[in-house]
Amino acid sequence: MSKRDYYEILGVEKGASKDEIKRAYRKLSKKYHPDINKEPGADEKFKEIAEAYEVLSDDNKRAQYDQFGHTDPNQGFGGFGGGFSDFGEGGFGGFEDILNSFFGGGSTRRRNPNAPRQGADLQYTMTLEFQEAVFGKETDIEIPREEDCGTCHGSGAKPGTKPEECPYCHGTGQITAEQNTAFGRIVNRRACHHCQGTGKIIKDKCTTCGGTGKVKKRKKIHVRIPAGIDDGQQLRIAGQGEPGINGGPAGDLYVVFYVKPHEFFQRDGEDIYCDMPITFVQAALGDEIEVPTLHGKVKLKIPAGTQSNTKFRLRGKGVKHLRGNGIGDQHVTVKVVTPTKLTEKQKQILREFAEISGQTLEEQDETFFEKVKRVLKGD
Ligand SMILES: [Zn+2]
Ligand SMILES: [Zn+2]
Repeated sequence: MSKRDYYEILGVEKGASKDEIKRAYRKLSKKYHPDINKEPGADEKFKEIAEAYEVLSDDNKRAQYDQFGHTDPNQGFGGFGGGFSDFGEGGFGGFEDILNSFFGGGSTRRRNPNAPRQGADLQYTMTLEFQEAVFGKETDIEIPREEDCGTCHGSGAKPGTKPEECPYCHGTGQITAEQNTAFGRIVNRRACHHCQGTGKIIKDKCTTCGGTGKVKKRKKIHVRIPAGIDDGQQLRIAGQGEPGINGGPAGDLYVVFYVKPHEFFQRDGEDIYCDMPITFVQAALGDEIEVPTLHGKVKLKIPAGTQSNTKFRLRGKGVKHLRGNGIGDQHVTVKVVTPTKLTEKQKQILREFAEISGQTLEEQDETFFEKVKRVLKGD
């Protein structure tokens, strides 16, 4: 199993800007999010996209990835960010295997089946309401994970008995076959199939776990989501992944957030954007309007003669910075709404208005009207 290139996964060029990467990620993560896309394989695809973004959105990780690819020697077991459960144990092989293939070819170095190993990382996807992401939240989540069996304390052997050393591989978990050929002696090493590479044989299996030493349990974990978390970001909860093997440390739990869009507010990082409709009378004469913000209603002065698409900034009405004390702004774009349903009386007043103001409108923006006149004449 070879891993796909992170740039290829997000469909961007190698030199793509942070914005391009962010946009590509947003588009793809929405398309493949397991809450939205129920097609088989969408979940895997989503994890792949999240992992690619995790690396390419971080300057340091991206630089390391550009230099070393998927087998960065600084990243340790199972790839970037500690890796997800898919390529921890088994599937992709561990850091040790990668080391072996670099330095161990034909040497006597081998993997000790009894050495402590870190447990696999787990990933949990959490959907948040728009405001929950802005203000943070505390919640309990339940994750299915393996735990040491309480009956045999993880040994897999019936209480009162012990696993024995495998007589076929003498506890090494590996069988070595030597073969003399014309090119010299070839040493072939493979996992011992009598003990499945564990180096141990359990004669009397524990009846609770069937000899595996592990049981599946749902574990409740309290998660404190910081204010300002954004779509696609993840939280690492150390030591809450699968338990370690042979006394090794537990893996980590990664909570990946999907933030639902809001019907009125748009968010870009710490800033909030919204459109506010105003009537053409308000635009022409000026008014004070009430604007909804995430922090309650705010009064906004519209000066007389405001054009449609004029932008106003409400300082400090955005999202708290995830790191640090700052807070973003809210950007309000006013949209002058042209009335579509007019009574006879209103129409009459507007006609009168046009009669007395036809010339003054042109005077207000002479160059613009001049331009239109020239185009109409076909100059
Ligand atoms: Zn057991
Ligand atoms: Zn064996």
